[in-house]
Amino acid sequence: MSMIPELELNDGRSIPQLGFGVFQIDPAETAEKVAKAIEVGYRHIDTAQMYQNEEGTGQGIKDSGVSRDDIWLTTKLNNNNHEPEKVKASLEQSLEKLGMDAVDLFLIHWPLPGAYDGDYVSTWEAMIECREAGLAKSVGVSNFQTHHLEELASKTSVVPAVNQIEVHPYFANEDVRRYDQQHGIHTEAWSPIAQGGVLDDDTIKQIAEETGKTPAQVVLRWHIQRGDIIFPKTNTPSRMEENFDLFDFQLSKDHEILIDRLDKGADGRTGPHPDEFNVIPD
Ligand code: NDP
Repeated sequence: MSMIPELELNDGRSIPQLGFGVFQIDPAETAEKVAKAIEVGYRHIDTAQMYQNEEGTGQGIKDSGVSRDDIWLTTKLNNNNHEPEKVKASLEQSLEKLGMDAVDLFLIHWPLPGAYDGDYVSTWEAMIECREAGLAKSVGVSNFQTHHLEELASKTSVVPAVNQIEVHPYFANEDVRRYDQQHGIHTEAWSPIAQGGVLDDDTIKQIAEETGKTPAQVVLRWHIQRGDIIFPKTNTPSRMEENFDLFDFQLSKDHEILIDRLDKGADGRTGPHPDEFNVIPD
C-alpha cells in the first residue's frame, strides 16, 4: 500500500495529504463508495452538510471495519446555519448522522459576504467554540478570499487550520494560496482535476505519456508536489485505485513548470466566485 504523506496543521494535528471527496455521490450509494475507498487505502474523507450524504459517509466508515481513530473526517457548515447559535446545533446534527462523537475538521463552507449582514466573523467564533467543546478537533474555512481571511485575523485570535478552495491546472488560485502559505494555513484544493475538465489537455496528455502514468495521476501528483491537500471524487472503483497510486513517481521541475503555465487565471474558474456566491438553501 502507498504511504500517504501527513501534513502538520497550525494546531499541531496531522492530516493525510490525499483523501476521498464525496460531493455528488448519491446518498443511497455513499456507504458503499466510502467503504470501497477505505478498502483501497484512503484514510481521509471529505463530506459536507450540503452534500446530504453524511449518514452514508458515517455508515461507510463503520462498514469498512477500520477504526474511527484511523480515519480523518471533514464536514462543512451549510449556508443556512451561519447564525452563531445554529453552528453548534448543526454540528451536533451532523455528528448524529455520522454516528460519531467528533469530526476531525469542521469548515465554514462559504463566506457568504452578501448574506447575514456580511458577518462571517461571529460564525467563525462559533466554530472556535465547537473546537473548544471537543465536537470538532480542528476548524477551518472554505472558499475564503484573502480579504475574508484578513477580516478573521483582525477580529479573532484563531487562524483557520485550512482553507479549502478551487485549485487545478486551469485555475491555480495563486493569490489565495500565497496568503494561506504566508499565514500558516494549509490549502485544500477542491475539484483537483476540474471534474475531469483538465484531463484532455495536450500538455497533460504529453506528460502522462512521458511518465507512463494517466492524465489524472499527473494532475494529482502536481498538487501533491505543490504541497496542497486533495480529495478527488469518483464513483468508479478502478479510478479510486488510480487516484490513490501517486507515490511511485515524481514530476520533473520542467513538467511542473509546463503544468503551471496552463493557468488561465479567473477564466479557468469552474465554480462560483466566493465574493458573489450568497445562496442559502431553504
Ligand atoms: P474532481 O476534480 O475530484 O473530479 C470528479 C470527477 O472526475 C467525477 O466526474 C469523476 O467521475 C471524474 N474522475 C475522477 N477520477 C478520474 C480519473 N482517474 N479519470 C477520469 N475521470 C475521473 O471534482 P469534485 O468537484 O468532486 O472535487 C473533489 C472534492 O472536493 C469533492 O468531492 C468535495 O469533497 C470537494 N469540493 C469542495 C467544494 C467546496 O466548495 N468546498 C466544491 C467542490 C468540491 P466518476 O465519479 O464518474 O468516476
